[in-house]
Order: sequence, then structure tokens, then C-alpha cells
Amino acid sequence: GILLEDIRKSFGATQVLKGVTVVMQPGEFLSLVGPSGCGKTTLLRIIAGLESADAGRVLVGGREVTGLRAADRDIAMVFQNYALYPHLTVAENLAMPLIMRRLTAPQRLPLLGRLMPGTRARRAEVAARVAEAAEALRIGHLLDRRPAQLSGGQRQRVALGRALVRQPRAFLMDEPLSNLDAELRASTRREIVELHRQAGVTTVYVTHDQVEAMTMSDRVAVMMGGKLLQLGTPREVYEHPCDLRVAAFLGSPR
Ligand code: ATP
Repeated sequence: GILLEDIRKSFGATQVLKGVTVVMQPGEFLSLVGPSGCGKTTLLRIIAGLESADAGRVLVGGREVTGLRAADRDIAMVFQNYALYPHLTVAENLAMPLIMRRLTAPQRLPLLGRLMPGTRARRAEVAARVAEAAEALRIGHLLDRRPAQLSGGQRQRVALGRALVRQPRAFLMDEPLSNLDAELRASTRREIVELHRQAGVTTVYVTHDQVEAMTMSDRVAVMMGGKLLQLGTPREVYEHPCDLRVAAFLGSPR
């Protein structure tokens, strides 16, 4: 699972995270909700290693990652704006995380745009992992296209595939569906749940959408003003909000 212990973070004089502690079970799907600006994205970036905390510890799969670089954490993050490589094919986009991990920065640049050289065994392994992720996300027929030739939903599936291909210890998703229309949101939501069921990877899912949080998650964490106010099953937090702010935010019955 993921263990966050008393995470604190300030930007200048603004205290954004005021001591957040979360214990997640292995394989758990946790939605992180709360009003805009409450610190959700900052917390996710600290777990990923894209931002450093002022205090506190992060453990992933029992391993302390607090001081590690993002690349050494074995955590995959999916954002709303996909961030695919526009000049690479879908297959190459999927393969990229596997290739990048083995290379140092100066080696990477000349490699963009073609699949890695390397040994035949290694190439076969990369190809097998790409095929597996493509099948799980039903994008096998799109492998030779470039991102500009895909729909928004297809792009998001490629972004998910690229996260999956690394077989990460944890998945972090920051509003991954917010650029999709309602219909596509619903179907991609089901795909993410199915994917999580198959891969069983501990997942933190940041969303503005209460329906998403309530229907997709094992548990929901409600944050406000840099603090974790409540953490429980969707039913628990909805039916028994710990205070009026949580009740108002979730629209719980009174
Ligand atoms: P939203 O739901 O709107 O995405 P959020 O809950 O994800 O909000 P964060 O993005 O974590 O909130 O931001 C929390 C607070 O920290 C905000 O007030 C934001 O302006 C501030 N903040 C975030 N990143 C930085 C930064 N790099 N420098 C200064 N302030 C920042």
C-alpha cells in the first residue's frame, strides 16, 4: 500500500498541507476529494516525487521513498492532459517508459523517434509488455497511429497504457477524465475500475466528480484546507460525514 505520515508543505508563507496522514491497504483504490485549492494535487505530486515535502514520510509498497527521485519510485502518474509524445506512434509512446528507465539523460535524446536498439531479448520483452497493455486497454488496432490521429478517449487510454506498462507499485491519477465528454467519461471510468481490478495496483485518484469518487473507490479521503478531514468507504463518508463541512461538500442528506 501507500503510507503517508504527517506530510507538510508550504509555498512561501502559505501552508498548503498541514500534516496529512493516510494509511492505504495494498491494492486499494482511494479517491481524494475536496474543494479547489485544498492541496490534492500537491499531495499527489509529493507521493510521486515531483515535489518535496517540508516534513513527513512517504512509503510505497513498504519501501521508504521520501528522498528518492521520481524516476526511482516505481510510481506511475496519469494527468488530465495526457502528455503523449506527439511525434511518436502509439506503440512507441507505450514503449517509452520501459526504454527511458534504462538510460541516462544524455542517451535519451537521440533515441526519441525510434525504438530502442539493445538486445533482442530486451526488445522482445518491451514488445510483449506493450502488447499486453494494448490489449488490456483495447488499443491494439491503434499502435501505428500518432496522438494527433486519435480521439480524446483513445489518447487517454494510451496514457493509461503507458502507466500500466511499467508495472508500477502505485498509480496516481489527477482528474484523468476531466477533458472527456460525459459519455466517454462514463465508459473510461468503467475501464479504469476494470483495469484496477486486473492489475490490483494501489491507486490514488484525485477527482472533482462526486459520482466518480462514490462509484469507483474502495475508500474516499476528504481534504479541506490542507487537512484530511475524513477517510472511509463511500457509504461511510456520505451517510456519516464527520462534520458539517464534509456533509455540505458531499451533499449528504441531513
Ligand atoms: P484543484 O482541485 O483546483 O486542482 P487542489 O486541491 O489540487 O486544487 P493544489 O493544486 O494542491 O490544490 O494547490 C493547493 C494550494 O497550493 C493552492 O492554493 C495553490 O495555489 C498552491 N500552490 C500549488 N502549487 C504551488 C506552487 N508551485 N507555488 C505556489 N503555490 C502553489
